[in-house]
Amino acid sequence: MDAARIDKTQPNVIVPGLYLVATPIGNLRDITLRALDILAGVDLVLCEDTRIGGKLLAAHGLKNRLERYDEHAAERVRPKALAALAAGGKLALISDAGTPLVSDPGWRLVREALDLGLAVFPAPGPSAALAALTVAGLPTDRFLFAGFPPSKSAGRRALFEELAPVRATLIFYEGGPRLRASLEDMAAVFGDRQGAVARELTKLHETVVRGSLADLAVDPRLDAPRGEIVVLVGPGNDEAASAEDADRALMEAVARVGPARAASEVAKALGLSRRDLYARALALREADS
Ligand code: SAM
Repeated sequence: MDAARIDKTQPNVIVPGLYLVATPIGNLRDITLRALDILAGVDLVLCEDTRIGGKLLAAHGLKNRLERYDEHAAERVRPKALAALAAGGKLALISDAGTPLVSDPGWRLVREALDLGLAVFPAPGPSAALAALTVAGLPTDRFLFAGFPPSKSAGRRALFEELAPVRATLIFYEGGPRLRASLEDMAAVFGDRQGAVARELTKLHETVVRGSLADLAVDPRLDAPRGEIVVLVGPGNDEAASAEDADRALMEAVARVGPARAASEVAKALGLSRRDLYARALALREADS
């Protein structure tokens, strides 16, 4: 069954299927009305930790069956969950916080459910990565979520090297004890880029520290901070590279289709001004002749 078969005249009716339900990342009130409908209406709620899941349900006056679905229980619980879904059941998957499957268990369950032709539905809501992106003050047009970096410096640096050419804001999850070392490695590999450290979002001690990676790496406010942390790295100043890329693309296209069409083509591909590109194409052709 797909989303098209949800009864649009009765949006609160919970049809059979697997619901991926986002839950708060701190503030208990950050839960959608639909998430509450689903958590109340399914036969079973799969959750990473039944105590945390139970607290969330209780905080909203809900009672429902909970079953643990974490990395240890997943292999055992998955076949049962799939059988229940195949029999027309309604199941929800939540994680301890935020959106399930985002640095949390669940993707195999979704994959196998899809392979069996079973319905899966998103119930979107909070995720620390997106919450942090919105307040970081960094470009949001392109971003790459990279989860938790490796715990050892060599592994971390290797990952950062791999990500360094990516022209996007990078988003990492990190824990307090490793934050300083991680920021030092980021400053060493990414160089002179802006970044942000977002801690305890939506909670009492919410803080966002913004600045260059070099400054963040020595910022005393970030000395082994407690709590949950997202680190963001801006895309860096790549204007020179963009200009080079644009020139390269233009020259190739001019040779193929002439300056006017080349300017349109490259403008579309790189999101630049067609007029500027046309002028540049003429200049490049002139210089080349
Ligand atoms: N599924 C979750 C989501 O959608 O954000 C993430 C789960 S992951 C196991 C937990 C990590 O998310 C934490 O270690 C931290 O890096 C980040 N995180 C979760 N809640 C946060 C918060 N309130 N503020 C900042 N970071 C948070």
